[in-house]
Amino acid sequence: GGIIGMFSNSPVSKKLFYGLNSLQHRGQESCGITVSNSETLLRERGMGLVIDVFDENKLNRLEGNIGIGHVRYSTSDGNFEYNTQPFMVFAKGTEISISTNGNLINYQILRTRLEEDGMMFQTTSDAEVILFLIARYYKSDIVEAVKKTMDVIKGSYSVILLLKDKLVAFRDNRGIRPLVMGGTKDGDTIIASENAPVDIIGGEVHRSVLPGEIIVVDSNGTKSYFHGGALKPKHCIFEYVYFSRNDATLDKVNSYNFRRRCGEILSRESPCDVDLVVPVPDSGIPSAIGYSQETKIPFAEGLVKNRYMGRTFIKPTQEEREMAVKLKLNPLKHVVEGKKIVLIDDSIVRGTTSANLIRRMRDAGAKEVHLRITSPPVRFPCYYGINTPSRLNLIAANNTVEEIREKIDADSLAFITLEGMQRATLIRDDRFCKACFNGEYPVDPVVI
Ligand code: 5GP
Ligand code: SF4
Ligand code: MG
Repeated sequence: GGIIGMFSNSPVSKKLFYGLNSLQHRGQESCGITVSNSETLLRERGMGLVIDVFDENKLNRLEGNIGIGHVRYSTSDGNFEYNTQPFMVFAKGTEISISTNGNLINYQILRTRLEEDGMMFQTTSDAEVILFLIARYYKSDIVEAVKKTMDVIKGSYSVILLLKDKLVAFRDNRGIRPLVMGGTKDGDTIIASENAPVDIIGGEVHRSVLPGEIIVVDSNGTKSYFHGGALKPKHCIFEYVYFSRNDATLDKVNSYNFRRRCGEILSRESPCDVDLVVPVPDSGIPSAIGYSQETKIPFAEGLVKNRYMGRTFIKPTQEEREMAVKLKLNPLKHVVEGKKIVLIDDSIVRGTTSANLIRRMRDAGAKEVHLRITSPPVRFPCYYGINTPSRLNLIAANNTVEEIREKIDADSLAFITLEGMQRATLIRDDRFCKACFNGEYPVDPVVI
């Protein structure tokens, strides 16, 4: 998912709306905004895209200078209306609203415990557990309540809270999911999953919220606290591979540059003798540029992308996913006909996209179709908020590279190495989670 929070001297609902639009790639299922008019919190939420859920009336109703927003991409909790964030509760007379991104691995245990204590839940989202814990621990000091909550929740979480007079943001001790902060010259403070919302309202990103850090923004300014027990950062490397926008710079790594370097590195690790380098849009584009520049093989757009289709991954059945890939990407016959091509894509998860694309590239007349992937084989599920399927459905968990090549019918197939991918970050020490590639989980997944 994607989250945003803003503290300003002027109304924020429109800015939050624009900001959420720029985070739309992080989730398309539902969205919402809560603002504070300094006396009470006001909220609007709905299923679907930001542009469809909000209109002038709703935005005008959300009158206030502090606010938070959310776009939702469901992982383990399912695509249900009741999971639409932000959530809201009263805690000892204080209203608190929450937007989260991530996934708690001890969600079930915590929820069961709270239920045994008599709490009743209205959602199947771990954000509700986080909010209930904060509400339970809250006396008068929100930072204390957040610290106590952080003592018991495990997994990945980037969170923004809205109270009547302040924003509170915090990030798990490993910094697995991203969170950046910045501001405008007019004195607005913005916290968001990526830079885009800060950029588009004319602000500047100052830095990332640090792992284990708690930020409080109110009329006294911005204060930083730490939940002790600092751990080695493990930022999700898949954010750079696929999830974030090209313009994102998260924890000092820029996604566009990372993707371009992955293409360069891959071209040296696994060259191939072809006429054209063809990206699978959008995340394959910078990598294909890198691959092409490094090898001097011409870059060519060999696929037309339908920009109005969501991310295909989310579709529940295999047939729907196949149709979604067809609708989303169509080969440009006159570009690829009679040519040997190398397709560049960011990842293979189930193998649906690659198998389908290769078949249709051949139908369009391509003489040879090679495939290069700018991440290593995804062999392990993610428990931290990226919706990878169980091992059963991960093609690389059950097949060797050669077996995958055969299944998807590529002339050749190669993945970037783990070392190559690390090098593309330009950061030497290994402060990235790569668990879906190497099975080294930074927070022990509790398998229930
Ligand atoms: P596959 O078709 O192999 O199952 O999935 C690979 C394709 O899905 C790639 O083109 C990649 O860009 C995209 N993809 C990879 N990971 C994710 C993800 O976590 N979520 C979504 N929505 N798409 C993904
Ligand atoms: Fe990111 Fe993979 Fe780690 Fe999940 S397992 S947080 S997708 S690197
Ligand atoms: Mg793709």
